[in-house]
Amino acid sequence: MDDSPKEACGVFGLYAPGQPVSHMTYLGLFALQHRGQEAAGIAVSDGHKMWVDKDTGLVSTVFDDRRLQTLQGDLAIGHTRYSTTGSGDWSNCQPVYRDARRHQFALAHNGNLVNTAELSAELGMPYDGIGSDSALVAELVARELSVGELHGESEEVIEAFIATLPQISGAFSLVLLGSDFLIGARDPQGFRPLFLGKLDDGWVLASETPALDVVGAEVVREIAPGEVVVIDENGVHARTLNQPAAEPALCSFEFVYFARPDGNLLGQNVHRVRRRMGQALARQAPVQADAVVPIPESSVPGAQGYAEASGIPFVDGFVKNRYIGRTFIAPNQELRSNAVRIKLNPIRENIDGQRLVVVEDSIIRATTLRETMRMMRAAGAAEIHLRVLSPPYKWPCWFGMDTTDQSKLVASHMSVEEIRDYLGADSLVYLDIDAMVEAITPGSQGGLCTACLSGDYPIPVPDSAITVAK
Ligand code: SF4
Repeated sequence: MDDSPKEACGVFGLYAPGQPVSHMTYLGLFALQHRGQEAAGIAVSDGHKMWVDKDTGLVSTVFDDRRLQTLQGDLAIGHTRYSTTGSGDWSNCQPVYRDARRHQFALAHNGNLVNTAELSAELGMPYDGIGSDSALVAELVARELSVGELHGESEEVIEAFIATLPQISGAFSLVLLGSDFLIGARDPQGFRPLFLGKLDDGWVLASETPALDVVGAEVVREIAPGEVVVIDENGVHARTLNQPAAEPALCSFEFVYFARPDGNLLGQNVHRVRRRMGQALARQAPVQADAVVPIPESSVPGAQGYAEASGIPFVDGFVKNRYIGRTFIAPNQELRSNAVRIKLNPIRENIDGQRLVVVEDSIIRATTLRETMRMMRAAGAAEIHLRVLSPPYKWPCWFGMDTTDQSKLVASHMSVEEIRDYLGADSLVYLDIDAMVEAITPGSQGGLCTACLSGDYPIPVPDSAITVAK
């Protein structure tokens, strides 16, 4: 029913002695719920002992006050999961906890590694037996801790973690909870975001800035690509990795779809970026129409931008059900059509007899959008001119989005004209890649991953990724 792209996860970390860290982590995870709805988990430490609670489900269904009360401590990490690797069952929920000789630690991960096959072979463990990328990283840290004499000092885990990072390749924004310290780390390309925030008496790490806002933290800065920060009673210490510097490559789809519009990335407000995409699309692909209609919700700012730049009125064409839960597979066409309506129902009075510019953020598989277009025709749309806020999505993502199967990407095997025909639109135009990048980072054409749109991967990816797209 829902063929929109899925994000790999959200991570959160908190160093705040004397404060209700599990409740604050709950709030942070709540603000990151859009990044993963399959599972949620929190790990806390009181300096001596560590507790982990995690389960499948939404943050609000996994945790209640009674459960949070059992998680008492001074520092915590949390995770919301969508499984791009490993199955979605309980055993793959995060944080991953390890008790390795004289140390305990817990770890949470956003992103996808690309060298899991090599790593699991080196470890002599089948990847299926490890379960997920995050468990693999925890295993590597535990192996680093398995050699030499240990004294139970925090620095030993920090060194083991830092020694692990050059071994892993791909997308990772990681938070690690030690008994009395917190670590945040980002891969050298910075595929997935990670921010540092400051409380009056503590520090916060989070995938997106709204998660800092909800706990009253001031945004300090993004953790830089390739940077490791250690947070303890003495404050924040940046650590340098023994790795060559890389070209930054933040996922451009964070701006197109994933990230919350009230957040900032690369110093740019996401809502404003989406608006600029819509304005650019109006300049690139003008059309005579009566109304600009967004496919809710991530396309709303782009449709506003299109309306501003074109002078065509912005009109709500749909009501989105905010209470829709997990997706399900409908067994036949009629039920599939109805399932789309559960999520999105047209406002007939705003559509009937109108020439519409319909703005969508992206087209991945096109199945839901096709149903949506049918609904608009059934509601009386006279013309539908589809405008897409990103270029055709042709190549698989190996860095944290659930699009590794290229055969499911409609633009990989259909031309734009074929997609227009398949969707039943009167016209279809995608935003040019240069215009999209300019809208994201005005005046600077670098620092972004656009691999799924261009086929230009910032780092080597599995062979199966390299196929020829139309
Ligand atoms: Fe983002 Fe696409 Fe790059 Fe994946 S391939 S990280 S979705 S821009």
